[in-house]
Amino acid sequence: MRHGRAATAIAIAMGLALFVLQRPEGWLDAAGAIERSSTRHVVLVGLDAADWLAIDPLVAAGKLPTLSRLKALGRTGVMVSTPPLISPMIWTTIATGLEPENHGITDFMIDLPGGRQAPVGSRQRLAPAIWNLFSAAGRRVGIVGWWATWPAEQVRGTIVSDALAPQLSRQVRRVDAGLVYPPAAMDRLARAVVRADALTREDLAAYLAPGDGESDQSRTLAGIVAATRTYGRIAEDLARTERPDLLAVYLEVIDSVSHVSVRVRGGKQAIDRAYEDADAVLGQLARASEPDSLVFVCSDHGFYPPTAAIREDPANLSGPATAWHRPYGIVGVATAAALATGESSATFARADVGLITPLDIAPTLLHAAGVAVSSEMPGRIVTALLPAEIAARPPVRAAAPKFVPPSTDGLVRADADDTRQRLQALGYIGATGSSLGRQNLAESLFRRGKDAAAERELRTVIGAQPQNVAAQLWLAQVLARTGRAGEALVAYERAIALPDGARDALVEATELAVANKDVARAQRMIALVPVDEAFVHVARGAIAEAQRAFAIAEREYRTALDREPTSFEASARLFDVLSREGRGRDALNAIEHAVQLAPDAPRLLALAGDARLAAGDPAGAERALRRALALVPDADAVRVALGRALIAGHKTGEALEELGRAAPTPDRDVLLGAAYSSTRDWSHVVVHLQRALSAGRATPDVLNGLGWAQMQLGQRREAAESFERSIAAKPDQPEIRRLLKELGR
Ligand SMILES: [Zn+2]
Repeated sequence: MRHGRAATAIAIAMGLALFVLQRPEGWLDAAGAIERSSTRHVVLVGLDAADWLAIDPLVAAGKLPTLSRLKALGRTGVMVSTPPLISPMIWTTIATGLEPENHGITDFMIDLPGGRQAPVGSRQRLAPAIWNLFSAAGRRVGIVGWWATWPAEQVRGTIVSDALAPQLSRQVRRVDAGLVYPPAAMDRLARAVVRADALTREDLAAYLAPGDGESDQSRTLAGIVAATRTYGRIAEDLARTERPDLLAVYLEVIDSVSHVSVRVRGGKQAIDRAYEDADAVLGQLARASEPDSLVFVCSDHGFYPPTAAIREDPANLSGPATAWHRPYGIVGVATAAALATGESSATFARADVGLITPLDIAPTLLHAAGVAVSSEMPGRIVTALLPAEIAARPPVRAAAPKFVPPSTDGLVRADADDTRQRLQALGYIGATGSSLGRQNLAESLFRRGKDAAAERELRTVIGAQPQNVAAQLWLAQVLARTGRAGEALVAYERAIALPDGARDALVEATELAVANKDVARAQRMIALVPVDEAFVHVARGAIAEAQRAFAIAEREYRTALDREPTSFEASARLFDVLSREGRGRDALNAIEHAVQLAPDAPRLLALAGDARLAAGDPAGAERALRRALALVPDADAVRVALGRALIAGHKTGEALEELGRAAPTPDRDVLLGAAYSSTRDWSHVVVHLQRALSAGRATPDVLNGLGWAQMQLGQRREAAESFERSIAAKPDQPEIRRLLKELGR
């Protein structure tokens, strides 16, 4: 075998496009070094927008047999995704194990010369996907319906691109080359296609609100239902006939049906039905696969319930329907046998594996299958998701084979315009003529704290689209957090001047101006927005607070809540301003009202937790905070607040458990000190309070708690020093002086 830069150039699909995989020395050797005996076939089922919030009640009602086995017998966790929650971008992150700036798929559409657009495809990808890596390692793949896979690349195995169902299942058939690889498989695969126009009214009735028989939406839904059945049948067929080492299938149905139904009367039934369809496909695949195959199930994000106070229209023809995407999806792994029959395994017991990111799937799956993990992949191999013998195998990392995307030759999908209309009908893309790829990438960089790269992208976006409010706002935030407040204020002022910009920018801008001691400027910005809306009153309140006019601030925040009763900004600030005067419980009514109107808005729930605790209701605080955490499972600040509520409710064991799961912060250390005090575990009290102390929390309470614990441990000199520091900070503490006397000081 020839080593070194052996390049393999492969013509795909009738020579229409090319990609090149170069194998650097080492990667194949690394892949080949893994014992085949400890590897498994893997099945990856992508369920767009699947969410435990929706699954759990359906499982409890006995409606999702396969997902309930996954929950009962598998390893499960929460998928935490970084916005923007754009499906092709995240599904490509999952398939490549790389960040968007490195895999290149950042939007639904790409711009073509001459102002047209086309759906994003495999030729826009900049890096190898798992199917390329499996193929290069000599393993077989079956890939079905995955985002951005047209034209189908040459692999060892089969790719059924995401253009297949739209082109073959609709009334108007427009058939491209490159729909599947190998092209010879087309005739066989085409027999599995379910035509949208072959679906009966009864077939579709379950997905539609009453009286919605002939709308555009019903045609869109028919296409999605047909695609789900088509891809399900094809994947099952591949599982039975080709037994690929990697079988991956993507289903869009939960996401699409959620968008069109979430706010519609009777919509819940349609969404439930979409979950049942996905569950059925998962069950079919489990039964068709070898029993010890590992089945990975994941979603790219979840979906907010209708009660989460999301303002955007979920099916807005021109708008950001992705506002409904919750950044928490699902992950689970179980054996095919467990999913097919409910048979439990002694060696692979159920466990909760916590939080996982889209970057972790590719490395974990490659490791499970015994294929080397590219060293370029920043994600983890999540061993907690895997059976013990695979988890114990040392990971093999090696540089990935070099991937050269096929050259662009002006080839456009035949259904490009239909695809645009379909995505518009679902609210994914707006009516603008240009792709949002750069804006999406800029947002992703911004949210991951990559400030320099984000700023560069944002300035490019703004250069091309000076009216882009979101880009101006993120630029302002990047400038503010990199210490350039003056420039940030200029960017905020530009955003405020744009149509609809003030709603998003004004409060932040006012806060920054006030923090910058420029109240006059804050007032000028507010004067630019002469409307009687909640956000304007919040901004006025912020200025009043800065001028210590607390009664005026209170009045402004209450007016804001009259205008918009679920405003988090207004309720949170009202609570703060009243708490300052020891009147926190006076804000409780307003906050409870907001929570009643939006019972699944996590920020309002967290605020209600704080407010109830301040009002002496630890049990009520616990309820609100537990619900908030169910909605935002990675919010450590909420977890710490829950710990505080549990301590106040004398539930020390539970408090220690929750606090133990939060990342270390001084607040957490103070609370752990308090919790351990009540269990009389004095050495732990000392450890945590000393840590809080060295982080600058030298309050009398912390010093007294520390001194008391040191006294119990017989550390008399240290105890006396702690009490003396406390007295120095707050002289009027007779009890502490008495203890000091006891210690002989
Ligand atoms: Zn999605």
